[in-house]
Amino acid sequence: MAKTSVMDKIVSLAKRRGYVFQSSEIYGGLGSVWDYGPLGTELKKNLKDRWWRSMVYEREDIEGLDAAILMHPRVWEASGHVSGFTDPLVDCKQCKNRFRADDARIKGTPGLPDAQCPVCGTKGTLTAPRLFNLMFKTFMGPVEEEAAIVYLRPETAQGIYVNYLNVLQASRQKIPFGIAQIGKAFRNEITPGNFTFRTREFEQMEMQFFVKPGEDEAWFDEWRARRMQWHQDLGIRADRLRFHQHTPDELAHYAKAAFDIEYEFPFGWQEFEGIHNRTDFDLSRHQEHSGKKLEYLDPATSERYVPYIIETSLGADRLALVALVDAYAEEEVEGETRVVLRLHPALAPIKVGVFPLVKKDGMPEVATRIASDLRGHVALFYDDGGSIGRRYRRQDEAGTPFGITVDGQTLEDQTVTVRDRDTLRQERIAADQLLAYLRARLSA
Ligand code: ATP
Repeated sequence: MAKTSVMDKIVSLAKRRGYVFQSSEIYGGLGSVWDYGPLGTELKKNLKDRWWRSMVYEREDIEGLDAAILMHPRVWEASGHVSGFTDPLVDCKQCKNRFRADDARIKGTPGLPDAQCPVCGTKGTLTAPRLFNLMFKTFMGPVEEEAAIVYLRPETAQGIYVNYLNVLQASRQKIPFGIAQIGKAFRNEITPGNFTFRTREFEQMEMQFFVKPGEDEAWFDEWRARRMQWHQDLGIRADRLRFHQHTPDELAHYAKAAFDIEYEFPFGWQEFEGIHNRTDFDLSRHQEHSGKKLEYLDPATSERYVPYIIETSLGADRLALVALVDAYAEEEVEGETRVVLRLHPALAPIKVGVFPLVKKDGMPEVATRIASDLRGHVALFYDDGGSIGRRYRRQDEAGTPFGITVDGQTLEDQTVTVRDRDTLRQERIAADQLLAYLRARLSA
């Protein structure tokens, strides 16, 4: 498969099967904003549920939080986002396009007469680089004045930091402990693109782990290893995953150490999760800016300190894209090309398709009854439209791991065939054993 076309195929499959639609498509779409259709919504929900379970339910030292998107504007002064969350940009005075100053397509030096606009090709129309803040601004209340400016949060982390003492006290946790949150974040990205990889509105799954200074490096290593393992447990191919360690000049101002987890997309190796040792930077800054003490009093030693923070920050949309890209396959079956999404059964939006072999001889009635017995227990799709081959193909593309078919033999001995999406093997199972059978296969 040619590398560039794979993404196009995935984008078109995503639309065709109801994974991802372009936002406001009937109005021509809104740049780099995407909506999740019925199957995409389930995929993302399955990913978020699995993350939440591994962070919050399976551990006793992590609590959940759901902070608001809008926060006091001083939060973003303290965090460094008002002054530092910027990209240098240049504008073309001719065609009005805007580019990152380091855009490889620009020839010459922006601001000087030799510089050439990469879109309209005009020379000397590019402005000198200017800093452009990536935060979305809006106004709170009826007056559009400076005092009423609020920002759409560019990361969920700050909601956790400003609440850490509240959570600590309410949950009676002790350090080390963590706070997990899933929520929307917004960045006015200049070069969004690659489908849902870089968008202006996205969802983050972040866990901030509060530790005693001095114990931060051991916890950093622990979380780095755990997070990589978690992705492999989702069934993501290990040879398409790697760490990228930030070099000193890549490190963010707040970080002592940082590793990205990268996936090999058709457009190259790219980050989809970051693990950062943020030291006491954030809490110290909030302490300074708010005037409120954010120290921890160790009940065992009566020692006071500002905790260090180990952050794991994962994009839910990027992870969903990783899952789709990793699952996408084309193969020859009996002389025909089959497109299949080999999603881990736990992630698959639909777990089972139910089909009558033909639309007669009482088969639809039996299949409908089987479907209604299973509905509510497993996510299923009933389909009696078109040839059985086409119905299998549609579910293969949707990533559905199992297909139940009611055929002539069902009417005689109450057994059905269960087809496995990946091996294409069919087993005969007693209809009244289906739920137990599917549960065992799905939890395997
Ligand atoms: P990048 O270098 O790709 O812009 P970043 O280093 O700014 O990312 P972080 O601030 O560490 O990213 O955000 C953590 C995670 O949030 C990323 O790994 C990614 O999964 C997700 N994320 C960040 N920006 C976007 C975006 N514009 N669209 C989709 N997901 C995003």
